[in-house]
Amino acid sequence: MSAAANNPVSEEAQEDRIYLKSADEVAVMRRAGHLLGRIIREVLENVDEGVTTIELDKLAYRRIREAGAIPGFLGLYNFPNTLCISVNEQVVHGIPDKRRLKSGDIVSIDCGLILDGFFADHAWTVGVGKLDPEAERLLQVGEEALFRGIDAARYAGRVGDIGRAIEEHVTRAGFSVVEEYTGHGIGRRCHEDPKVYNTGTRRGKRMGQGLTLAIEPMVNIGSGRTKELADGWTVVTADGSLSAHFEHTVAIGQEGTEILTSAEDH
Ligand code: MG
Ligand code: MG
Repeated sequence: MSAAANNPVSEEAQEDRIYLKSADEVAVMRRAGHLLGRIIREVLENVDEGVTTIELDKLAYRRIREAGAIPGFLGLYNFPNTLCISVNEQVVHGIPDKRRLKSGDIVSIDCGLILDGFFADHAWTVGVGKLDPEAERLLQVGEEALFRGIDAARYAGRVGDIGRAIEEHVTRAGFSVVEEYTGHGIGRRCHEDPKVYNTGTRRGKRMGQGLTLAIEPMVNIGSGRTKELADGWTVVTADGSLSAHFEHTVAIGQEGTEILTSAEDH
């Protein structure tokens, strides 16, 4: 989810408001991220034929509350739910409802939560039952694109390196990157500066110690163009082709870049 569309100030002005986190703050974000990683993993394990997307949403809400955290998307810009669930040609910001998942669907689960005042943001896309080979390949390329982006997110590098790496990988695979939505800085607010573009046309600021970013490529089989549905939220591919979305929250450090939203123990 990007605040880009809501923000009227110029790109340069926005980049003056980057918040680098202390080691203690990163430690809080690590706990938030790890909690979210485990919750998303459980939700993904429950993605199955016949399951409704609202059931998945309720599971995530329950798990977040049980852990003493706060659902980060619920009410954010008035979003109505805990999860954004985007199926097939839906790119991002899909609203959970009574839709029953069926074999061949691909399902993106995107979630933010707040723990001790800090956000974590994480998304993953999986298939239901038997997928077309092209859909399988989309999931693979989308996941690889995320890790190319994370690999390019290095101390003293440029934020623009991330989009360059993502775009290069996706284009080489014959798919398209969605340009209208971006990753973002993250911390006490879900969407902080800088924007993290998924294409490589900008250099961007240097990445410093304690910069925390949500890196989140959205990859389409067809054109990268999108449109928004009348519900004011759901973003779909303009040509109806399948779309996949993968996101991790990471922390940049001199010693390396850490994935904060891992489900695995640190
Ligand atoms: Mg995000
Ligand atoms: Mg997200």
